[in-house]
Amino acid sequence: MKKIDLDYVLKISKELIDIPSVVGFTDEVTKRVEKEIKKYGLKSFYTKKGALIATVDGEDNKEAKMISAHVDTIGGIVKRLKENGRLELTNLGGIIWAGVEGENVTIHAFNGKKYTGTLMPIKSSAHAYGDEARETIRTSETVEVRLDEISNSKDDLEKLGIKIGDCASFEPRTVITESGYIKSRYLDDKLCIGQVFGYLKYLKENKLKPKNKLYIYFSNYEEIGHGISIIPEDVTEFIALDIGIVSPISMGDERKVSIAMKDNKTIYDTQVNRKLINCAEKNKIGYTLDLYNRYGSDASGVVLQMADVRIACIGPSVDGSHHYERTHIDGVKATIELMVAYL
Ligand SMILES: [Zn+2]
Repeated sequence: MKKIDLDYVLKISKELIDIPSVVGFTDEVTKRVEKEIKKYGLKSFYTKKGALIATVDGEDNKEAKMISAHVDTIGGIVKRLKENGRLELTNLGGIIWAGVEGENVTIHAFNGKKYTGTLMPIKSSAHAYGDEARETIRTSETVEVRLDEISNSKDDLEKLGIKIGDCASFEPRTVITESGYIKSRYLDDKLCIGQVFGYLKYLKENKLKPKNKLYIYFSNYEEIGHGISIIPEDVTEFIALDIGIVSPISMGDERKVSIAMKDNKTIYDTQVNRKLINCAEKNKIGYTLDLYNRYGSDASGVVLQMADVRIACIGPSVDGSHHYERTHIDGVKATIELMVAYL
């Protein structure tokens, strides 16, 4: 296999990660994706829900495959303007409150203003609360946003123009190390969008076409379970590009591509998975097979909504998913190689 431009993949991934895109608030990042799609001369259209679908001409256009990567991320939403001038949030997607403790937050107010702050436990001071500060379980009720504004009352918050329903995004803190590790809050799933562009660049540079017509679905509601709302008639196989899982109780490896066999919603299509495994073996691509405990993808979601399509889910494995995530450039490379080999 020829060389994949991994520097480009990292650069575009980082740029996309830097654009806040908490589920429900994804227009800006989708516009940036659209701009990049145009560079490859691809046709694209928006769904009514604001997702973007691009099409790539295949060698044979009778049948089509579809891949997806989601632009939306987990985050918070303002639930209550508190009497102490701070904000109570609730989750959008599967956030772990302890995982964002002490992290800088941006509140995207309805009036267009952006306010910075920090996600703090309501009892944060060691000197004031001692063991209570250490031992309190972090939930949406025991953490709050401390704004970097003079705000000591609900009135102050109202004067700033903050409203219930405003979006809260966390600082992604993207770091790429000399040793090839990639750390960020939002590798899920913008790193996979970067991989899609790496794949498209590979096709362009090597004057290749995918075997079949290919739809690329940039979905925008995956984190809350309804990313895909249409499947074009001619699509027979749909592969979601999403993160694999690294933990002591899963099989993922940061330096390999993960092929999902089953998640807690459904088994993935056995026929497609066998073909993916054969492709990986034939091309000597490092892969792991895994069964996910608490996981859903755009692919497993859509078959439960009665879509008639064969599904799979592949991606680089991430340590600490929905926390401060980490993977390795080798896993990114393996995922793109599997896309090239399979598609
Ligand atoms: Zn994801």
